[in-house]
Amino acid sequence: MQSLSTFLPPERTLMGPGPSDVNPRILNAMARPTLGHLDRLFVELMDATKSLLQYAFKTENALTMPISAPGSAGMEACFVNLLEPGDKALVCINGVFGMRMVENVERCGAEAITVSNAWGTQTDLNAVEDALKANPDIKVLAFVHAETSTGVRNEAKLLCELGKKYDCLTIVDAVTSLGGVELDVDCWNIDAIYSGSQKCLSCVPGISPVSFSDRAVNVIQNRKTKVQSWFLDMNLIVGYWGQGAKRAYHHTAPINSMYAMYEALLILKEEGLENAWERHALGHQKLASGLNELGLELTVDAAYRLPQLNVVKIPDGIDDAAVRKQLLEEFNLEIGAGLGEHAGKVWRIGLMGYACKPRNIDHCLAALKAVLK
Ligand SMILES: *Cc1c(COP(=O)(O)O)cnc(C)c1O
Repeated sequence: MQSLSTFLPPERTLMGPGPSDVNPRILNAMARPTLGHLDRLFVELMDATKSLLQYAFKTENALTMPISAPGSAGMEACFVNLLEPGDKALVCINGVFGMRMVENVERCGAEAITVSNAWGTQTDLNAVEDALKANPDIKVLAFVHAETSTGVRNEAKLLCELGKKYDCLTIVDAVTSLGGVELDVDCWNIDAIYSGSQKCLSCVPGISPVSFSDRAVNVIQNRKTKVQSWFLDMNLIVGYWGQGAKRAYHHTAPINSMYAMYEALLILKEEGLENAWERHALGHQKLASGLNELGLELTVDAAYRLPQLNVVKIPDGIDDAAVRKQLLEEFNLEIGAGLGEHAGKVWRIGLMGYACKPRNIDHCLAALKAVLK
């Protein structure tokens, strides 16, 4: 980047763990005139966005809205609103994002009880049930639906059934799952869920949709202590995003990013949620068979692989960083590196939202073939 001149980024193909390629329709929506954050027309857009989010999450939860910050803020919003000092939360860990949940629990002054499973495997339901039985005072059961660090899909529906059976509130990380794989907030009885704009919704980063069940709202409204975070206190945010025409200033929403979020959700609605899930499944099949032909191995068991995040074993003798650098510089293609204990061992190839299409898959396979030759 040259100093003191307009920044003109190249057009990359983003096939990593997010951000994913942004649909040009969404970038165009962002370039429209900025309205005031209490403008009647902006309030109408907020309401339309909330109902599109209810569609995407499959929920009738009244408290469903985008948080004006990235997925990590959605995560924090769920934990700080539901947990008070001294509470107990059971956190399932099988990758980086489960570990971050523990950080959130502890910073709330609550106690984290953990069930850990090896990276690349699913959270073990029996171990979760044992922990719930052993600790009858657990208030929250938290887990990651789509573990982006490992490419594993956890059994969200069954984990929520356990949560219900043992009378816990459930917090679900759906940052990478929303729009990519089946997710049904109401049927699965999820109490608090957060997602992100830049994964399977193919929107610009920086927005985090959340939804809270009426049961969760009741808990939030009847806390003994104030929510630890002023910015993320849902009791205050509803004054701006809540029901009815009367809205009061809480913070200045990122207006143009909200145009983008609305457009992204509209695109999802036009395609149809189930069709989007199907497109990700088909894209994954095409990519997997192409990788197979190149002699590359997917590391996650096919039964619980995420179609939108494909973890590939780096062949022996191949320089991880050099390959990714060449893909970026010669093919304008970004794929993801391994995280944590997977660093240097795997690549993570994202097929998220707009990026999940045959042209991108062909480009990725051809580029890998050329670079690995
Ligand atoms: C990306 C991601 C997050 C964090 O989202 P940010 O927008 O980067 O803050 C949280 N959880 C999972 C599973 C993710 O993939």
